[in-house]
Amino acid sequence: MTRAIRVSYRGTVSFRREAFGLNQNPGDYLVVERGWPLLLVMRCPCGCGDDLLINLDKRAGPAWRFYQRQSGSTLYPSYWRTSACRSHFILWNDKIYWCSHTDQEDESYREIDRGVEQNILHALTNDYIHYIDLADKCGLTPWEALQACRQLEQKGLCGSGTKDLKGYFKQNKLT
Ligand SMILES: [Zn+2]
Repeated sequence: MTRAIRVSYRGTVSFRREAFGLNQNPGDYLVVERGWPLLLVMRCPCGCGDDLLINLDKRAGPAWRFYQRQSGSTLYPSYWRTSACRSHFILWNDKIYWCSHTDQEDESYREIDRGVEQNILHALTNDYIHYIDLADKCGLTPWEALQACRQLEQKGLCGSGTKDLKGYFKQNKLT
């Protein structure tokens, strides 16, 4: 089986049945949209041949956030199939990043530029804020906000919470 490392947008349809036959290759996906995005139908990027149905509609239950940008499509959080092939991946700017317990996760590829880092730095305060809220505040995807926070933390410019405050960040007081 060949795992896809990129996704490919095949179009937008109004009903799931219209998606039938349009996905051809691992990573191909369609958006089902009626006024707003409801569902992603993605040919599993692992190569198993199944279509994954990824809910985007909060009213229909737990939903993923989906961003379509110039830089590509991003899904948050990661997708983890708990049955069959058990695919687990992050979709960020059209690229698939496979998550697995056996591969050591290499995060260097996610390095984002200083401009984004600066936006996040300005949005941080002395109170803890979750990176999803930072993302919304700055018009970024959560992955970008999280990565910016991690980079800032490495530089000693922000601090991260633990336990109940996992995923929360605040500005470090400059001494
Ligand atoms: Zn699969």
